[in-house]
Amino acid sequence: MPTSPAPATPSSPTSLAQRGNLYQVAVHQFEKAARAIRLDPAVYQILSQPKNELIVNFPVRLDSGEFRLFKGYRVQHNNILGPYKGGIRYHEEANLDEMKALATWMTYKSALHDLPFGGAKGGIKFNPREHSKAELERITRRFTHALGSNIGPEWDIPAPDVNTNAQIMVWMMDTYMNIVGMQEKMSVRRIVTGKSITSGGSHGRETATGRGIVHCITEWAREKHFNLDGCTFTVQGFGNVGSHTARILSKLGATLVAVGDYRGYVANPEGLNPFKLGEHAQQTGSVVDYKGGKSISREEFFGLDCDIFVPAALELEVGVPEAKALKCKLMVEGANGPTYPEAEEILLDRGVDVMPDIFANSGGVIVSYYEWLQNKRSERWDLEEVESRLERRMKRSFGLIRDTAAERGLDWRTAAYAIGLERIQKCYLERGIFP
Ligand code: NAD
Repeated sequence: MPTSPAPATPSSPTSLAQRGNLYQVAVHQFEKAARAIRLDPAVYQILSQPKNELIVNFPVRLDSGEFRLFKGYRVQHNNILGPYKGGIRYHEEANLDEMKALATWMTYKSALHDLPFGGAKGGIKFNPREHSKAELERITRRFTHALGSNIGPEWDIPAPDVNTNAQIMVWMMDTYMNIVGMQEKMSVRRIVTGKSITSGGSHGRETATGRGIVHCITEWAREKHFNLDGCTFTVQGFGNVGSHTARILSKLGATLVAVGDYRGYVANPEGLNPFKLGEHAQQTGSVVDYKGGKSISREEFFGLDCDIFVPAALELEVGVPEAKALKCKLMVEGANGPTYPEAEEILLDRGVDVMPDIFANSGGVIVSYYEWLQNKRSERWDLEEVESRLERRMKRSFGLIRDTAAERGLDWRTAAYAIGLERIQKCYLERGIFP
């Protein structure tokens, strides 16, 4: 089992290089679920490695006139249920094993919800904060060009992830449209999801992951007869996922008592206003120095009293020390792979409920599917329609995971995997393995 490293120093969040291997975590979870459902040995072998692992090195002209070579990735894990689907991340520590893990989780996320997609993930190894907007545009366009026909609207459909957003997706779409030629141009807008509304995006996509997390929390609260009005929560990461979760949850009467990002942590037992905090983060690039709270260390953050904790930053942030320190009743994985397996065991032993990432943060891919469908049918759905479909799908899968966990005596993560794996297995056994 991959083990967690020593705790990070308070002011310097752990570097990915110091963390365990993310792909080993994904493999550990997969193997546990495969054993639980006695997965067919041939299907087990097929799923144990991604189908395709692509690395591209491409040059980009910087504003200074110099060239720099960038390294990009696209890993395609499985496509038995439909086109590959998954985000694009810009991060200085992006690496192949991380992409393999993230692509694997996308396969099970889509399969869990019965979405007609497979799993993929990609990105570029660089720090976007060190580049101008013009450089980011050239890097994005050249990366899209380098991926070429390895992506496609019926083959592999990227979306936003860490440090990418609607603008990046629109540049990717525009570049791809200009590669395919005039006649096909208009039919390929669905090459990416998470676009701006102006350029073919869907209402409700930007907030979808946060909204999905909150559905997960409200369903849990209903089951447990737990009153969200007046409860407290903490969020690690205040980007797309963390900030929207905090805003939506606070509207239900829950109080955000602490938050952190790559620069540090702030807390206020009386409550932080996530809307004002969002404005501050927008202006300054971070939640630190927010006037409505006081600065705390990473250690203090993990030891705070709260009812719900949402990790929504990067992977492998919750190791053994954090699992021992956490005082929440529920941890909802907004981030992908935030928890070491041994830390999860500690949390479960301590009676903390853990909502696994492949369920909890799937609102994004669900609404990405709706965006893709709208583009394909040349339709535009209103916000109400998108959000009610998202709510139905999250609630349906919640019920399925709850029942599977109870009937088979599984933890929630293994139950979620079991549902996805059995859908994939059924498909392989019916279709057979070519030739
Ligand atoms: P983002 O780039 O918008 O935000 C990331 C946040 O994490 C930022 O506030 C950043 O400062 C913070 N952060 C980075 N490193 C940190 C560290 N070492 N310690 C504390 N905070 C740190 O990214 P996002 O889109 O919100 O994604 C966050 C997580 O959610 C990722 O794991 C991503 O894969 C996952 N996810 C995103 C989506 C989506 O729709 N965007 C969907 C599903 C899952």
